[in-house]
Amino acid sequence: MNRLGHYIPPKDIGITDIPDSVLLSAIKDFQKSLGLDATGTINPDDKTLAAINAELIKPQKGYYVWRTVHDNHVRADHAAKDGMTRAWANSPDPGDDFNCRCWAEPLPNSAEDRKNALLGKGMADFKLKRDLQPLNDKPWYAIETKSEVNENRLIIEDESKAAGINPDLIKAIIYVETTQGYYDEYYPLNKSIRPMNIQAEYWKELGYSRKDLETPRLNIKAGIDLVKRIYLQNPHASVSEVATLYNDLGAKRINDYVARVGRVMKEKPWLKKK
Ligand SMILES: [Zn+2]
Repeated sequence: MNRLGHYIPPKDIGITDIPDSVLLSAIKDFQKSLGLDATGTINPDDKTLAAINAELIKPQKGYYVWRTVHDNHVRADHAAKDGMTRAWANSPDPGDDFNCRCWAEPLPNSAEDRKNALLGKGMADFKLKRDLQPLNDKPWYAIETKSEVNENRLIIEDESKAAGINPDLIKAIIYVETTQGYYDEYYPLNKSIRPMNIQAEYWKELGYSRKDLETPRLNIKAGIDLVKRIYLQNPHASVSEVATLYNDLGAKRINDYVARVGRVMKEKPWLKKK
């Protein structure tokens, strides 16, 4: 459960063979993430055990921080790794060696940590948990006349191609941001600028001034740059994950907003005849 990112043991005990209540909720969390019954238990030959084994065979991706219990039974070479950011690709993994109580702590994942990572300063965890509610059947409302996709179509296609990003994803983000977000038009103090709702002050280190972002091409270019940076941090991200992070960098779960981006990307409402 620790290796799969669902379980952090008590800091002074570390990983042991004795199940605790945190482990119980970790198992439930794991079960929910795969749509299994959240019983919190694992039995021989059940679906949970099969799912755990299937997950553990997959090569582990990304990075973690090595943690130890900080007592004098910790092996010297494990104590030396305490606090180190390590790739799952490098062995040993915490907990692998005989009687090892060390564990893997996920990289920090606050909006600030992720922002810094996107700007090339430090590392952060960009993984999101699956949303537990089925969202795609929810009705949503768009003020279609406000869509800024068509008027920017050539720029979007141009700049997406140059960045190697699917232009339909950018169109879907712009469609949702402009038909459902009112940000700069109605809430001038929010300071996010259409069509991609970039917050000039927050993202000034990307190298675009507020004046730049008021130019559609530079605005779209900056938005695509952000999407690309998110993909670089999380190369296996789904459309839902990228769109959630674009909308809310501090998100811990895939959110409601993205159910729309995924759907809009499929339906392409900007192609509709007026
Ligand atoms: Zn250890």
